[in-house]
Amino acid sequence: MIDFHCHLDLYQDAKALLPLVAKRNQFTLSVTTSPRAWIIASRLFSGYGNIKVALGLHPEVAAQKSSELPLLLSSIPKAMFVGEIGIDGSSVYKDLFSIQESIFKQTLMECERMGGRILSIHSRNAVRSVLNLIERYCIYNIPVLHWFTGTAKEAKYALELGCWFSVGPAMISGSKGRTLLNELPINRILPETDGPFASYCSKTLMPWDAFKIIDSLAESHGMTKEEIHGELEKNLFTILTDMKTS
Ligand code: MN
Repeated sequence: MIDFHCHLDLYQDAKALLPLVAKRNQFTLSVTTSPRAWIIASRLFSGYGNIKVALGLHPEVAAQKSSELPLLLSSIPKAMFVGEIGIDGSSVYKDLFSIQESIFKQTLMECERMGGRILSIHSRNAVRSVLNLIERYCIYNIPVLHWFTGTAKEAKYALELGCWFSVGPAMISGSKGRTLLNELPINRILPETDGPFASYCSKTLMPWDAFKIIDSLAESHGMTKEEIHGELEKNLFTILTDMKTS
């Protein structure tokens, strides 16, 4: 089992969950919402080699935590993975768009300057703006668009820019998300849950639930479940190897 985007530190009793996740999952990427949370989670999760903690500044809190931007930027040399970062263009955050964009841009630039990082990126209602920045600042960075909600045309543009997509059960529980799967080549997809903030069949997703996407992927890509499973594992290997060689 792989979960390429969850918030392990935000589950109730995260500490008790850790050994279970480490045992059930081959690989888990726990993204954080602020650089301070990254410091705490990195300390708490150390000792679990297959659970990685990504350094983040979630766009929903980026404005109120903008004072943590220098800490974020100065921590990038120590972080292999950066997320959750990005822009949220939903109407509630409308006034904060330019500050979110500025933080996202500076983060991309610094990751790029450090030789590139694997990025877990939020782009809700801001796909165009996010992709425009990816186009400019992701030569070495490896962008993974988490819970992508763009159009087929935007997905195509993202693929041209070298983006990956982390796809979860919640994303494909609606027909729009399922239809979008047809646009995404299997070799650019990674599983995610976005737990504990996402649910499926009215149950909070756990980090070992990401493979609930396999049935839909088998259907959209005309492959067997076993083949999809193998492809997803291969993708994990590819993205981790790409990072080491870039
Ligand atoms: Mn998230």
